[in-house]
Amino acid sequence: MRPLVAHIDLDALRHNYRLACHCAPQSRSVAVIKADAYGHGALMCARALEADVPAFAVASIEEALSLRSGGITKPIILLEGIFSADELALVDQHGFWVSVHSEWQVAALLAFSPRQPIPVWLKVDSGMHRLGFSPEEAPAVWQRLVNAPQVTALHLMSHFATADAREGSYFNQQMAILKKLAELLNAPLCLANSPATLAWPTAHGDWNRPGIMLYGSDPLEDANAITQQLRPVMSLRSEIIALRELAVGEQVGYGGRWRAERPSTIAVVAAGYGDGYDRHAVDGTPVLVNGKRCAIAGKVSMDMLTIDVTEIPDAAIGSEVVLWGASRGGEVLSVDEVAQYCDTISYTLLTGVLPRVPRRYQGLCV
Ligand SMILES: *Cc1c(COP(=O)(O)O)cnc(C)c1O
Repeated sequence: MRPLVAHIDLDALRHNYRLACHCAPQSRSVAVIKADAYGHGALMCARALEADVPAFAVASIEEALSLRSGGITKPIILLEGIFSADELALVDQHGFWVSVHSEWQVAALLAFSPRQPIPVWLKVDSGMHRLGFSPEEAPAVWQRLVNAPQVTALHLMSHFATADAREGSYFNQQMAILKKLAELLNAPLCLANSPATLAWPTAHGDWNRPGIMLYGSDPLEDANAITQQLRPVMSLRSEIIALRELAVGEQVGYGGRWRAERPSTIAVVAAGYGDGYDRHAVDGTPVLVNGKRCAIAGKVSMDMLTIDVTEIPDAAIGSEVVLWGASRGGEVLSVDEVAQYCDTISYTLLTGVLPRVPRRYQGLCV
C-alpha cells in the first residue's frame, strides 16, 4: 500500500476544543466543522466532540444532513443559512439552526410555517463586507424576527476581518459597532472565530465559533500562552520510497529548480500535489525524516516530492516522513510553518488534502 496517510488524533481535537472553552469560560463554543472539519472528516470529528459541545457549525445543509444521517443529534447551525427557500422544510425536519444574512432569507422564513420555531442568528456586516445586514438595516430586521412565531433564540452574529492581527484598530471599530447594536436591541451575541476566541476577550459573546484552532493551528500573528498548548490533529505522514546520490551541479525534478551545491543525498517521498500537498512549496520547505528536520529540494510532483537528506544519516527506504503534524516519536512540524513556505495559510493545506489520502483515526473512544 502507498504509505501516505493523514493520521487524525481525536484526543488532540478534544484537547483543543477544551482550550477554546477555557479561553472563554462565560461563552458556549460551537465547534465549526464545515468543509469536512477542515479536511479532518466531519462525521468522525463530530462523534469525537459530541459529548462536549452544545452545537456544531457547518456551511451548508448538505454538510448538516450528512452529520444527521451519521447519527449526530446535537444542534447544527448553518453559517450561511439556507441557499434556497425549499431548504426550510429540511431545517424544520432536522432541527437545524440558521443564520440569516439577506432580505430574501428573512422573507422566506416569515412565509414558512415550521412545526417548531427555528433558532436564528441574524448576521450583521460590521466591517467584513461579505455577508450580512448593515448596522443601519439590522434593527428593523431584528424587530421583524424577534417576535415572529417562526423564530426562537434570536442572536446577533458577525464576523471579524482582522482578529488574527496584532494591530487592533479595525477589530475595535467592528467591536464598537456591535456593542452599540447589542445594547440597542438587548441582543445576545455570537461573534468570535478562533483568533478572537484566543486573543480578544471583548468579543466573547453568549456563543463563540472557534474553527481552525480546534485542529491545532495557531491563527494569531503572535503566539500566546494558549496557542502554544494547541496540539496538531492531522499528521500527514509518508515514507521514503527511493534514495540517490547526486554530484555537485546535478539537478532534481521538473525544470531543475534545485541543483546540488555539494555532494547530496536526495530522497523521494510518496506524496505530491495529487494528494493535496501544495505545489507552491519552495526549496527549503521543512519536513521531518525520522523526526529530524530537513527540506524539500525540487518542485513537488503529482505523486512524489523530493527532499535533501544529506544531513540525515539514518534516512533509508521506509523511513518515516512527516509533511506536517507529529511524528510517531512525537516531534512536531507545525502546519502553520509549512503554510508560510507555500505562501498560504494552514486552512488551505488542511482542507486541501484530497480524498485519495486515507484518514486513519485514533482516540475516538472517550
Ligand atoms: C469558518 C467560520 C468560522 C471559524 O473561523 P476560524 O478562523 O476557523 O476559527 C467562524 N465563523 C464563521 C461565520 C465562519 O465562516
